Amino acid sequence: MNKTYCPSLTSYQRRKSRVVNIGGVPMGGDYPIRVQSMTTVDTMDTIGSVEQCIRMIEAGCEYIRITAPSIKEAENLKVIKEELRKRGYSVPLIADIHFTPNAAEVAARLVEKVRVNPGNYADKKKFQVIEYDDVSYQAELNRIRERFVPLVRICKEYHTAMRIGTNHGSLSDRILSRYGDTPLGMVESALEFLRICEDEQYYDVVISMKASNTQVMVQAYRLLVQKLDEEGLQPYPLHLGVTEAGEAEDGRIKSAVGIGTLLEDGLGDTVRVSLTEAPEAEAPVAQALIDRYTHRAEKAQPMKPVCNVPIDPFQYHRRATTEVENLGGQNVPRVIADLSRLADIKYADLKCVGHLYSMLLDKFNMNDLGADYIYTGDHPITFMLPNGLKEVVNYVPWQLHEQKENRHPLLTAKQYLSATALHPVLNLVQASISDLTAELLQRLKQDKTVVLLLQTSNEHAMPELRKCFFRLMNNNVPTPCIINRAYGRLTSDEVQLYAATDVGGLLIDGFGDGVLLSTELLPDQEKQSWLQTIDQLNSLSFGILQAARTRMSKTEYISCPSCGRTLFDLQETTAMIRKRTDHLKGVKIGIMGCIVNGPGEMADADYGYVGVGKDKIALYRGQNVIKKAVPADRAVDELIELIREDAKWIEPVRLED
Ligand code: SF4
Repeated sequence: MNKTYCPSLTSYQRRKSRVVNIGGVPMGGDYPIRVQSMTTVDTMDTIGSVEQCIRMIEAGCEYIRITAPSIKEAENLKVIKEELRKRGYSVPLIADIHFTPNAAEVAARLVEKVRVNPGNYADKKKFQVIEYDDVSYQAELNRIRERFVPLVRICKEYHTAMRIGTNHGSLSDRILSRYGDTPLGMVESALEFLRICEDEQYYDVVISMKASNTQVMVQAYRLLVQKLDEEGLQPYPLHLGVTEAGEAEDGRIKSAVGIGTLLEDGLGDTVRVSLTEAPEAEAPVAQALIDRYTHRAEKAQPMKPVCNVPIDPFQYHRRATTEVENLGGQNVPRVIADLSRLADIKYADLKCVGHLYSMLLDKFNMNDLGADYIYTGDHPITFMLPNGLKEVVNYVPWQLHEQKENRHPLLTAKQYLSATALHPVLNLVQASISDLTAELLQRLKQDKTVVLLLQTSNEHAMPELRKCFFRLMNNNVPTPCIINRAYGRLTSDEVQLYAATDVGGLLIDGFGDGVLLSTELLPDQEKQSWLQTIDQLNSLSFGILQAARTRMSKTEYISCPSCGRTLFDLQETTAMIRKRTDHLKGVKIGIMGCIVNGPGEMADADYGYVGVGKDKIALYRGQNVIKKAVPADRAVDELIELIREDAKWIEPVRLED
């Protein structure tokens, strides 16, 4: 029997977690999935903190976390709490603790919950690889127990809840030396602390496994649930979050890929979306992600469970497929842009899919978000397409077209099974789960020209599409598949979050050789609005592939959400760095507000820009500090210099319009 983390990978059932009471707002069990966020104002600024808390509550936060880097901030939580209560707000407060057990012990007597990071509660990070044998490892565990037990006892006495919040970027040297920075290391890091809690018969615990890398994050949460069950530990509620997700579209997409993938499988009792924006912007995004699951079990079309799960959900393996044209095999997942609603496509219209026509030079240039294919439905393009861009048209117009060679037909499964004329290299076939019959599967096995466009109308879309992939794998059909999601009349924000969840979740399981997103607008939609929508969907498709780490087409920014420790304006600085570096495809830049947690939390970044003091920045190459205190006004230039030294810098090119 396969190890698992949820009762079914193809039907919805929320995980039954233990209920933890947090200041009268219970979490877990059948209680709603809660929304929370964290303040960014200095904790010693009482009124500033209170006013930000109120804005956050009004935006939908049900719990608020506030950093307590030392005893004085921990004590000030009491003042903040009193002021909030005086103004009529009873929101539970959570103290965020790193490195300072003494601050935690003060805060645990004052607020409703404390968050500890097992990577740094009792350990100072030295970025060293130390070899531990069993004896020295056990000695470390004993040392942790000694430091941690007093906090557990205070929490127990004061009925204060606790989050054991593991962070991929700040695992202890001890964990790194034994497990590496792996999902298993993250899980073990929390379990070391959890076992101490259970030994003390303290169970008011919530757990998180955050990472900036969505694959690592999803695998760690799944593994945590499986290990809790395996060890007979309590089914503690889960706090979901992707760390340092970034800002704007990228931050929302990345959060939805990580958090949404877990929610699809019924995991998660509270959500915090971390954006490099004001914290009140985070709650509506978290709520929108959660709302999709409120009636999921009733709305989903029932599906028979799959007995043979052909994947290991705790590890990333891309499904092996045949290469067809430039789809499948070792190719990066492709983006197909849906232009089928446009009747009369002109050169200039291709700008919305990243192919820019210059009248002056009479040629096309492609930007980093140049679609690989366009789907034109019943309206084939009447001019020669730019190099590298291919066209897909519906089967009937394709049959009638004189120029069949440079365009590829899209057929229904029924048309395909009776077709007499097909393209010699690439044919796309639409299929939903009911189309994947024995007859079709048999044909696909013998036909190396087909790519499937997998579709569903099931409300529980991702798991049904996952089932399609399972069926293909269990029948040894290596046909590449495009994930095709069509959304009704949703807002662009909803499409962004839903598509990131549906497509991202499959990509994280190793499924999908491309993506095709469509949406419906009003029937009398103006051409300009359609172009704008196509532009958004094209950018969204690339964003999802990047967030799921399957195709890097832009610079990646791992920026912290900021908190009371932040030493510079993160939004402004991120925008400034972005402006100078956003043409560096695939380069990962960490932008962190403080030296305390920054270097650890940007674990994945190639370069780091980290606040070390007022107007002073430390620059990192990977985990190594290269320049310790660069004046802020020179720091971006010096960062670029560093990238240049590594021969990763390219001059930005302005494409002709
Ligand atoms: S890295 Fe950013 S969010 Fe994390 S503690 Fe430092 S300033 Fe706060």
